[in-house]
Amino acid sequence: MPGWQQLHDEAAHADATDPLRHLRDRMALPEGVAYLDGNSLGPLTHAARDAVRRAVDEEWGTGLIGSWAEGRWVDLAPRTADRIARIIGAPAGSVACADSTTVNLHKALHAAVSLVPGRRRIVTVRGDFPTDRYVAARVAADRGLVVHQVPAEDLAGALDSDVAVVSASHVDFRSARIADLPGITAAAHAVGAVTVWDLAHSAGAVPCDIHAAGADLAVGCGYKYLNGGPGAPAYLYVAPRHAEVTSPIPGWFGHADPFAFGEAYVPAAGARRFEAGTTPVLGMTALHAALEAFDGVEIAALRARGMDLTARFLALCDEHLLPRGMTLQSPRDPAVRGGHVTLGHPRAQELVRHLAANGVVGDFRPPDGLRFGFAPLYVTRAEVVRLARALAEAR
Ligand SMILES: *Cc1c(COP(=O)(O)O)cnc(C)c1O
Repeated sequence: MPGWQQLHDEAAHADATDPLRHLRDRMALPEGVAYLDGNSLGPLTHAARDAVRRAVDEEWGTGLIGSWAEGRWVDLAPRTADRIARIIGAPAGSVACADSTTVNLHKALHAAVSLVPGRRRIVTVRGDFPTDRYVAARVAADRGLVVHQVPAEDLAGALDSDVAVVSASHVDFRSARIADLPGITAAAHAVGAVTVWDLAHSAGAVPCDIHAAGADLAVGCGYKYLNGGPGAPAYLYVAPRHAEVTSPIPGWFGHADPFAFGEAYVPAAGARRFEAGTTPVLGMTALHAALEAFDGVEIAALRARGMDLTARFLALCDEHLLPRGMTLQSPRDPAVRGGHVTLGHPRAQELVRHLAANGVVGDFRPPDGLRFGFAPLYVTRAEVVRLARALAEAR
């Protein structure tokens, strides 16, 4: 069995010959830290830091209201949305960037219910991210529907002609299991239902191909793999064929001509009608610039790199961790394993704290999960070895 030093040297060699190794230079990561939590909060990019400084000092500090009048901020949200569109496989103009994921999900579910009147059920996944479950329950109650929660693997089987909407995460936030987004979308359409996908844990790590899959609506998060910064604006995709769907919040920023201050609400064309209020300019500036880290990068190449990272980690788990009390809570099949890996251990919280004190950052997910994100833009193979070694030596 090779020793840790040999494993590290082999990994460092693979890093040095990786055609995507230059991407890490776009990140402003602190020295000496192995950051394996980019699926909770992506790191700062050099571009975002520069852009936010410029926006504060020049655009806001000096330009004041003139920065609106000059048009520097007016189309910042749609320009950001179009960068996200490429990453999730959506056509330009079909994504709005605004609000939080929670608020966008609320808007998307209302819009989805409006597309399929007269049906009684919203199907969701048991154990899905809390906000997704809370919002589905509220929208269902508001619209006179009921929520039917099923295990992820039973989604397709839970569909019949009484289902209005299927709402699920593309990648499960705990296990990283990838749902069959195209298959479930097709099954929903076959019974006349529509889909709302949450891409929070997939976009930027796993191809979503949301348009090719025929999905109806989708939402996602700006601050995870997209690195937009804490509380970054989120996004909402609406399929071009549903471009005329109603947003439940007819805000002035989703108006066809906000600065005409018109008497009547006239929705903007396409996704932009899902913008509600004024663009949060500083946060949007950070997200817009952070997305430059994806410039010139094929999502398929990122996915391949991410699969290599998680496969290497799993091999080390098999050798050093699973035989000694850790369990694997993520899929073994790389085809359905997303960008993170979750291990189980009764002392998970303590171990995560111990690792962080040694510069290896992951996170704890109750009750017993140690979750590590292998963001393919910047995590290195050497860090994978460092993580496995830190875990092996922690006990
Ligand atoms: C992270 C995450 C969210 C976050 O919602 P916010 O409103 O942006 O805080 C929502 N859904 C899922 C599945 C997530 O992973």
